[in-house]
Amino acid sequence: MKQRTGRSSTSARPVLIDLDAFHNTGQGARVESETADEARGILSPAVADLTPGDEGAVITSVETYALAVPLSRPLQDATAALTAWTVPVVEIRTADGRVGTGISGLHCGAELLTQVIDRYYAPALLGAGSDDILGTWKRLYWLPTHWIGRGGVVHMALSMVDIALWDLAAQRAGLPLWRLLGGSADDIETYNTDGGWLNLGLAEVIRDLHALVDRGWRRVKIKVGKPDWREDADRVRAVRQAVGAGVTLMCDANQRWDLSTAMRMLPVLTEVGMDWVEEPVHADDVPAHRRLQAAGPADIAAGESLYSYHAFANFIAADALRVIQVDVTRVAGVTEWLQVARHAAANGLRIVPHAGDMMQVHQHLAGTVLSDTPPLLEFIPWTQDAFEQRSVVRDGYLQRPHAPGASTTVAARARERWQIRGVGATTTRD
Ligand code: MG
Repeated sequence: MKQRTGRSSTSARPVLIDLDAFHNTGQGARVESETADEARGILSPAVADLTPGDEGAVITSVETYALAVPLSRPLQDATAALTAWTVPVVEIRTADGRVGTGISGLHCGAELLTQVIDRYYAPALLGAGSDDILGTWKRLYWLPTHWIGRGGVVHMALSMVDIALWDLAAQRAGLPLWRLLGGSADDIETYNTDGGWLNLGLAEVIRDLHALVDRGWRRVKIKVGKPDWREDADRVRAVRQAVGAGVTLMCDANQRWDLSTAMRMLPVLTEVGMDWVEEPVHADDVPAHRRLQAAGPADIAAGESLYSYHAFANFIAADALRVIQVDVTRVAGVTEWLQVARHAAANGLRIVPHAGDMMQVHQHLAGTVLSDTPPLLEFIPWTQDAFEQRSVVRDGYLQRPHAPGASTTVAARARERWQIRGVGATTTRD
């Protein structure tokens, strides 16, 4: 097994590493190396021990890299300032010549996700069947990396691999992923997040929201979380007055408030008819979310900072949320997204994914589970130029993609322009 690291359009000569010096060979023998001995996953069979499947689906190479896609203007919410959106990418090639692409979306740290894939997942993928999606998910999940990341970096890297395998499955079926998952061809309503950023002045926010409404969106979201909550109160009142009663308005505090501040804001948010309040307090604080939801009537929304089915299940069991914003890039891919969405729908909750993928994968996932409420998607247009297939949204409604796969194939021009130097590697079978 060979790995070429640091591959990029601008990188220097590649460095060759013999991965057999670092990992079990799959024959049960351990190869000594200059690094410390590493643990072996008891619940993660070696590739050589797996039941052979379709020869064409066998994984022959795993390539990682990352893009930094510039934003059209600097933006801020209550916790982060951004000038670019970082998109780590994994491309998994199979013996039949197909390429499945998995992506994530980050503020920073793309190299951490690609290193998890290059260092730990690639050796467990090469030679295995790409069509064994659940089996692969469990094998990777129960590698010794389990102990250092059932959420965050390791889990997000698993998401990238899982998305790539679902992309391959849809390509092999000759179907767009939404159809493979049983979704209907109906257009899906989107809400727009790109008009209410916290660094924009009130006049600019109102001008942007008017522009979005003029382009057909009926639901828009604004950021809150100013240092003084009374400034937030003034802002949401002014926005409601400007957009009128016919526009559905949501707000997002990005965990900036404490419970006391959030409780003070609730009457104001009720007064302006706020549909949901997103991440009002720290994302792990189940009791605080439960108290806010009980105080109502605004729905409490969260999910972009929850990384597992179990995290969502704990919130749902506590009746702490009514809007489940499960993100395919934060939980471990399509596989875990479906598990969360089905559980949420079975509990009568709204499923409105947070779009860490800028909607590229979620446009396939929305509307694929039985639910009492129509699907709704978050629309942020930052990475439309990074992919071969742009999302098509007209009058606020998404049209389902038609090409086979998960719409994750990176455009060659995007890679030329935005690939981050020195991030990623290519791992191949000998
Ligand atoms: Mg948010």
